[in-house]
Amino acid sequence: MRVLEGEYWKEIPLYSEISQYQWKDWKWQIKNRLKTLEDIKKILPNVNEDVFKKVSQIYHFGTTPYYIFLADRTNLEDPILKQILPDEKEIDEKYQEGAFLDPFLEDEKSPVLGLTHRYPDRVLFRATNFCSVYCRHCMRKRMFLEDERARTKQEYDVMFEYIKSNKAIKEVLVSGGDPLTLPNQKIEYIIKNLYEIDHVDIIRIGSRELVSNPFRFYDEELLEIFEKYDKVWIVTHFNHPNEITSETKKAVKNILSTGTPVLNQTVLLKGINDDKYTMENLMRSLLKVKIKPYYLFHCDPTKGVYHFKTGIEKGLEIMEHLRGRVSGLGNPTFAVDLVNGLGKVPLLPEYLISKKNGFYEFKNYQGKTVKIKI
Ligand SMILES: *Cc1c(COP(=O)(O)O)cnc(C)c1O
Ligand code: SF4
Repeated sequence: MRVLEGEYWKEIPLYSEISQYQWKDWKWQIKNRLKTLEDIKKILPNVNEDVFKKVSQIYHFGTTPYYIFLADRTNLEDPILKQILPDEKEIDEKYQEGAFLDPFLEDEKSPVLGLTHRYPDRVLFRATNFCSVYCRHCMRKRMFLEDERARTKQEYDVMFEYIKSNKAIKEVLVSGGDPLTLPNQKIEYIIKNLYEIDHVDIIRIGSRELVSNPFRFYDEELLEIFEKYDKVWIVTHFNHPNEITSETKKAVKNILSTGTPVLNQTVLLKGINDDKYTMENLMRSLLKVKIKPYYLFHCDPTKGVYHFKTGIEKGLEIMEHLRGRVSGLGNPTFAVDLVNGLGKVPLLPEYLISKKNGFYEFKNYQGKTVKIKI
């Protein structure tokens, strides 16, 4: 965990006049996002201008000042910069073979605009297509092609009606874009309406604000909403240990104080975190700030994203490394999401080697084998 002390942001000349009051205000972070070539050049003078212009015209760019502060800004290969800087491979067909705009048919298999109902007991609720950071590896990169916009209350009302009339739905995944970039009043509208549906037990909010704008959780009003509507879980999206700081720790502490659990989903990304020691460090760092690693996903076959794919074997190698070395609490489920909305499939290295006449042969984390009757 990186400890950020004093007025650390002042090491960037652009922010030398910014007060603590501004920097630690989530709204200031969103309002002062870097979005254009002119913006980014003030921080990264050596950015490749042609590539930036060409690619960001198609898939837009955006980052909070806080998130880019975390990067080593002298190194364009930095794992944080690679998650936000446009790359020519995104638009090179050669790297996008086998990828689709909407691989999971989220839009096609939608009963009501904004909802995807894949599993009987869970429904995905897309509240907005706005994010404070646009991740190059986003599985919903198709929304980068649209204008930034949150859904209207009328649209939400239709979504609530669908959920109300389907008693099998026990859990609503509120996602986006990033729902926690919405104003508190709109977030409360969504959470309150879902909370009041009796058969909804869990409101799972998928958000990257903890990574890109932890100050979101310094906002007392938001914390009160979590506390009041006591069905909320937060699932966040850390991909690299460098993303975890003392600001993260403080934000998680605030969230936990409201009785809201915090879990994490990581995407396995070529050239960013496809290394077993980086992943071990990430899982340990998450546990240190009390975030439970939930999923490790293989990169989705989404257009504009597939150059990050590592192959399944890389994920299995990482899982094999974690098992026995890192606390079970720090072992996420490695999964691949199947195209056409067929669902997520968990994958594990093989620990059960053979079955014969009631005897089972197992392999342990060290590779030792044993045959036992069970
Ligand atoms: C991932 C996903 C879920 C949730 O799956 P979990 O295994 O419970 O995390 C639900 N609905 C859709 C459409 C999804 O893509
Ligand atoms: S924050 Fe989430 S939804 Fe937004 S661009 Fe990143 S991965 Fe996509």
